[in-house]
Amino acid sequence: MEKKVVYSAVQPSGNLTIGNYIGAIRSWVKLQNDYDCFFAIADMHAITVRQEPAELRRRTLDLAALYVACGIDPEKCALYVQSHVSAHAELCWVLNTLTYVGEASRMTQFKDKSARHADNVNMGLMDYPVLMAADVLLYQTDLVPVGADQKQHLELSRDLAIRFNNRYGETFRVPEPLIERGGAKIASLQDPFKKMSKSDENPNASVFLSDDRDAILRKFKRAVTDSGDAIVASEEKPGITNLLGIYCAFKGCTMSEAEASFAGMGYGDFKLAVGETVADALAPIQAEQKRLLSEKKYLAELLAAGSERAFRAARKTLSKVYRKVGFYRE
Ligand code: ATP
Ligand code: MG
Repeated sequence: MEKKVVYSAVQPSGNLTIGNYIGAIRSWVKLQNDYDCFFAIADMHAITVRQEPAELRRRTLDLAALYVACGIDPEKCALYVQSHVSAHAELCWVLNTLTYVGEASRMTQFKDKSARHADNVNMGLMDYPVLMAADVLLYQTDLVPVGADQKQHLELSRDLAIRFNNRYGETFRVPEPLIERGGAKIASLQDPFKKMSKSDENPNASVFLSDDRDAILRKFKRAVTDSGDAIVASEEKPGITNLLGIYCAFKGCTMSEAEASFAGMGYGDFKLAVGETVADALAPIQAEQKRLLSEKKYLAELLAAGSERAFRAARKTLSKVYRKVGFYRE
């Protein structure tokens, strides 16, 4: 039987956070044995906010090394850079003609990022979810493992697939989101009502996969907590709940197990324990990423092989789309 298809990506728009790791990359590793996986480095999405070119180039390679260090096997998956496969931009153009300006401008991420980058509310920022739909639909994807923040975008991908199929005949498979429970939304350490983001301007808000042990412990020490002193997950305790969630995600335990092991402990010792758990889990990934980054030739080769594999799959869908919309071909 043909394997089901999985597609996901992360933007090289900053250093990756533990949110990206728990919400996305870590779940990819579990899928690679059973699915036909496409994992991209979304550089085209990244330029929807201003990037420094040399930094973007460096972070792209850093991210390729990180994927592999986290356990993505380039033999099993297509690991590639989005801009290396031009079909993403080409399909995005066609899907743009099916997307209403109203629905694109209603997207939460567009509104958030427009507010944060008020001097650069560009067309690409509004088009972000349409390019994401193109990414996903190109590979006839069944499942998209993402964090909860991308759910709305995935809804749009589904709507566009259905709209295209209705107008031009069956062409796209309609993808389903795969959102991890628990780790679906890691909040900022400085504001538990905000999601942790790699582009947050407050460096204490996010724990980066590249942070050393001292930085990790310091950030958890400064993490905002709630009033009272009980270490329990509840709506009245968003800060503690987030820290417990991070602990569970890294320790592989349930909320009630975590609550039980911290019963009677003070906030200070609790935050230290969470920090140590995260630092211990990240250390081997960091060492492996560093080793891989010294093997530039290997990384270049695996990205070339990945884009070749992605291109072959993408081309099939794109030719079908061009035929359906009536583009003239010999
Ligand atoms: P940016 O601020 O530049 O948008 P980001 O941290 O939101 O960066 P993305 O590249 O947009 O990262 O998203 C990559 C993946 O990480 C997506 O699947 C997204 O859902 C997931 N993700 C991002 N932030 C979190 C979070 N705080 N918790 C869980 N998953 C997250
Ligand atoms: Mg994002």
